[in-house]
Amino acid sequence: MQIAENLGQIQARIKAAVRAAGRPEGCVRLLAISKAFGHEAILAAAAAGQQAFGENYLSEALEKQQALADLALEWHFTGPIQSNKTAAIAQHFAWVHSLDREKIARRLSTQRPGELPPLNVCVQINISGEASKSGVAPAEARALCEVAAAQPRLRLRGLMAIPAASGPDRRAPYRQLHELYESLRAAGLPLDSLSAGMSGDFEAAIAEGATIVRIGSALFGTRT
Ligand SMILES: *Cc1c(COP(=O)(O)O)cnc(C)c1O
Repeated sequence: MQIAENLGQIQARIKAAVRAAGRPEGCVRLLAISKAFGHEAILAAAAAGQQAFGENYLSEALEKQQALADLALEWHFTGPIQSNKTAAIAQHFAWVHSLDREKIARRLSTQRPGELPPLNVCVQINISGEASKSGVAPAEARALCEVAAAQPRLRLRGLMAIPAASGPDRRAPYRQLHELYESLRAAGLPLDSLSAGMSGDFEAAIAEGATIVRIGSALFGTRT
């Protein structure tokens, strides 16, 4: 019950943020980040109408996918990618948000099963320049996007970022991300997705053009 109620509140907040930004209704998708929560929580969100779920850890995700195989859910991989995990990621997900190396792009494309549509990918940008964060520097984004766009079994969709938690202006990193996104589009890259914003700051991300918000704790509760 709590998850359904949270979902309704988040949807209303997304709608209000979209309206406040003067953007078209329905332009922002909610990706439910279910890491650390069991398949019962996913089931509750799915019963309330949520279809897209994001996971950060492969083995945890595969267990839940198996338990929920009867449901038509869309799975997104949002965590760091080790090269020995690419085959399973290419087989079991519709989207990858955390592409950050050429080698991973080539492996995911080669390993994407022929009967599935191309794997949707976002390039992860280390927008706050933190040593501890994955993602490419903004200056390296174009080269990696070009490699991803050239892979036959990948469909390059956009950029993803996780800004530093604190900062005087929450919108600033998302504004930078959006500027980078627009400059890549102007350079001819076919981007249509900006994966930006989490439970604590998704309204700021929507104000700066996010098209996918990745929400965990506001939907499922505190992770332990
Ligand atoms: C955990 C996580 C989220 C969700 O974070 P919340 O603050 O719980 O909404 C979003 N994106 C990524 C990549 C994450 O790892």
